[in-house]
Amino acid sequence: MKNISSKNVLLRNATVVLPERELVGGSVLVLGGRIVSIFSAETAPRASIVEEIDLSGTTLLPGFIDVHIHGAVGVDVMEATPQDLQKVSHYLALQGVTGWLPTLVPGSDANYASVAAAVSEAMHSSEAAGARILGVHYEGPFVNSAQCGALHVEHFKNYSGPLDLEFLAVPEVDAVRMITLAPEVSGGVELVRELKRRRWVISIGHTRASLELLDQAFAAGARHMTHFMNAMSPLHHRSPGPIAWGLSRDDVTCDVIADGIHLDPFMLRLLVKIKGVRGLALISDAIAATGKGDGDYRIWGETISVKNGRTSNPSGSIAGSVITMLDAVRMMRSLGVSYIDLAQIASANPARLLGRHYDCGAIKIGNRADLVALDSEGNVRLTIIAGDRFPE
Ligand SMILES: [Zn+2]
Repeated sequence: MKNISSKNVLLRNATVVLPERELVGGSVLVLGGRIVSIFSAETAPRASIVEEIDLSGTTLLPGFIDVHIHGAVGVDVMEATPQDLQKVSHYLALQGVTGWLPTLVPGSDANYASVAAAVSEAMHSSEAAGARILGVHYEGPFVNSAQCGALHVEHFKNYSGPLDLEFLAVPEVDAVRMITLAPEVSGGVELVRELKRRRWVISIGHTRASLELLDQAFAAGARHMTHFMNAMSPLHHRSPGPIAWGLSRDDVTCDVIADGIHLDPFMLRLLVKIKGVRGLALISDAIAATGKGDGDYRIWGETISVKNGRTSNPSGSIAGSVITMLDAVRMMRSLGVSYIDLAQIASANPARLLGRHYDCGAIKIGNRADLVALDSEGNVRLTIIAGDRFPE
């Protein structure tokens, strides 16, 4: 998978989406794979010594960051080789995604170990091309079997002490480590405290926790919630739980699957209103069938059917999505969310969640040149990842 390197390039004439405003007719100078200057139409250099790309008619956004994705183009993270992961990275780059966290469903310790090894190798391969793998996301195994969704309960665990964490194999010091957990599992709050101490990104999900436990999890270091409203006890006026708690707290962010199936578009609009764009992040929760069309797929040891873009497992549960972040962005755009706000919920907020906001997630001088140019129809014209260009 060859790609053209544009480590030094001047991107011209786009509507550049900056953190607070849009720059119509703007230009971005990339040197050494980083953003070094941003020009308005008036200040753009007349001639440039680097290669130029004319992006007239496009909107230039920071590349999307997907913190929750199980696979695509036939590749399931749980069974992937390093080459398979690179295939996903390449596909995601074409969809405007510049960073992602391969997301593990609960599995055997041996399965977890083989995935961690594959991710580690893919992250450091000299062949790496496409969306950058930023680390790993373990969805479970410390989650509530009463809110399992499509996760396999036989691999769920309780926590009794650090020995129970030995299976969490993430050798890289520079890799992001994220986990979705339910504070009500036995030892759950202590688990949050221990993982926080180890600098994990902790997200609450697959949960029926009480307000009291959620407050304890917050005090122990949890600041985020996974696919908000899905796989958690529903909102009830006499027994407020995770949804009421997440809605009430300005210091907790939530990610959502904006496919129009996991959440009704009306609820997405309501969430933008209540949480505000600072409190929301988009994820895909995409499975291996993504990019393959409708049909039956063998994933996670069972047959998952995809029909009209909706997934279901044999028990009838929704089993992840078949969208990419690009589809999620288009969905939110159709609900009236501006590109400035989309840059926040699809890039800046995920980057902040992962502690990478100093490096990516916004069009800012000094950041990596991880960028996507969308045409007026919302299609990807060009993705740039630290200077590499997709499509080639
Ligand atoms: Zn998931």
